[in-house]
Amino acid sequence: MTTSAARPDVRTLQTDVLVIGGGPAGCWAAWRAAASGARVVLADKGYVGTSGATAPSGTGVWYVPPEAEAREAALASRETLGGHLADREWGERVLDQTYANLEQVAQWGYPFPVDDAGRQRRTSLQGPEYMKLMRKVVKQASVKILDQSPALQLLLDDEGAVVGAEGASRQGDAAWQVRAGAVVLATGGCAFLSNALGCNVLTGDGYLMAAEGGAELSGMEFSNAYGLSLAFSSVTKSAFYRWATFRYGDGSVIEGAGSKQGRSIIAHHLEAGTQVYALLDLANEDDRRYARSAQPNFFLSFDRVGIDPFTQQFPVTLRLEGTVRGTGGLRLIDAGCATTVRGLYAAGDAATRELICGGFTGGGSHNAAWATSSGYWAGEAAARFALGEGAGAYARSAIAAGGATQSGGRVLDARELVRAVQHEVQPYSKNLFRSGAGLERSLTQLDGYWRSLRQSAPSIDPIARQQEREAAAMLATARWMYRSALARPETRGMHKRLDHTAQDPAQQHYIHSGGLDHVWTRSHREPWHVAPQAAEVAA
Ligand SMILES: Cc1cc2nc3c(=O)[nH]c(=O)nc-3n(C[C@H](O)[C@H](O)[C@H](O)COP(=O)(O)OP(=O)(O)OC[C@H]3O[C@@H](n4cnc5c(N)ncnc54)[C@H](O)[C@@H]3O)c2cc1C
Repeated sequence: MTTSAARPDVRTLQTDVLVIGGGPAGCWAAWRAAASGARVVLADKGYVGTSGATAPSGTGVWYVPPEAEAREAALASRETLGGHLADREWGERVLDQTYANLEQVAQWGYPFPVDDAGRQRRTSLQGPEYMKLMRKVVKQASVKILDQSPALQLLLDDEGAVVGAEGASRQGDAAWQVRAGAVVLATGGCAFLSNALGCNVLTGDGYLMAAEGGAELSGMEFSNAYGLSLAFSSVTKSAFYRWATFRYGDGSVIEGAGSKQGRSIIAHHLEAGTQVYALLDLANEDDRRYARSAQPNFFLSFDRVGIDPFTQQFPVTLRLEGTVRGTGGLRLIDAGCATTVRGLYAAGDAATRELICGGFTGGGSHNAAWATSSGYWAGEAAARFALGEGAGAYARSAIAAGGATQSGGRVLDARELVRAVQHEVQPYSKNLFRSGAGLERSLTQLDGYWRSLRQSAPSIDPIARQQEREAAAMLATARWMYRSALARPETRGMHKRLDHTAQDPAQQHYIHSGGLDHVWTRSHREPWHVAPQAAEVAA
């Protein structure tokens, strides 16, 4: 990696692989790329090790030992829930890679709890310990970390291949530009600034940057995850609500309300202004002990206010998590997590997870398994691609992709735009319970906001500029999400249409989307294949 001082206000670096986003997917990508012989820069909007959805939380992992029966059960468990869009080949790959990666995590010294028989329990990781370890491992692999350094735009060469990115610094330093042979986007999902734990850095930036370079998305209709949460806390860990009964204030049970089946009933009550309460009274003594040791963070908010959730009912809400626990994201075209744009790879929540869980996630711990596996593959493939390109990659001309960059003279109020987008995506009546007419109404609003955005001038101040880009990314994400939802007139996975309440066998396909000024969708019938990586094809 070399530094040049071409412009004093821009810190310029050259590297083989640039990884954008330092959650688990980005850290695995950075580590694997470095282990494959590449020079690597890792840039994060926050501080690598504490930023993103995993870092502040406990996370279950889809970790299944390689025993035929257990693997079969794991693969079968999501097929119906996910609307039969998951692909077994990808599922098997992820289970194998996750198993291997967690062995690696154990060797790096992660303190897994041990059961009575002395075996390590590897189905759960504590976010703070896990991500602190990942930061250490990445640094030891000589990866250069740029903390507090949000990426704003990708750089493209004359032929449209990605050759780096540029961004801002949140610590008052110079802006940065990294020229790279390949880029991995690991920027997480989009939770629309809903204050869900660890999610307010996740505004869909990677989708926007990639789409500006011409990349496609898939499964954006599966983007309306709402996490159950204690009403006055941001913690949206939903897994333990499997032990909950849901109640009215007087303690009587709300019929049909439930965590997995029955969230709609909770949403209807909340929307009507009725406070819903939960009590984790279905947990037995063993469950309670296990819960405390597996996910201690879940109990922090309860302990702070002196509530024992196993014996005292507490008020709950449903907080939008968007694509963070949805399954939509950038479309992948091969086993190395390449996107449809040359030199650009995607991993973790930035990429679609339809491959392993179709149209439904949450409660199955697929996302953590996907983050580690896809990060590993994307890092390896990006390194191979960049090393194959050689030094020529840096010599080519590069322009900022920035297709959504504002071009007019108006001043954009980013906060107002964020509120306007939230108004279309947060209400349960618009996003959880969808209808053709409702989606059209929202799209009319959102398309109008997009036109206004394009007539505004970008700010000079880097922090204001970053907020504008976040607002633009949320807006773009909402438009891909609702256009895709409109293109699926049925109910499948987490996508629920009030006007088409049944799953339609004729729609067992994927919906791809993309575009900026003109948002397009296209259905794709073929099942996913684990296509060999481009480099292997060439060999
Ligand atoms: C409360 C909660 C509990 C969860 N529990 C589970 C669970 O038990 N099991 C499970 O499988 N999954 C769980 N998930 C989902 C899981 O946390 C995510 O799937 C996982 O964190 C994805 O990893 P990632 O690296 O892709 O994204 P993240 O961990 O979200 O990291 C993304 C990173 O990208 C950075 N970034 C964003 N934009 C930019 C930009 N423009 N420039 C530079 N950097 C940028 C962010 O700062 C962040 O550090 C949970 C999610 C939440 C919110």
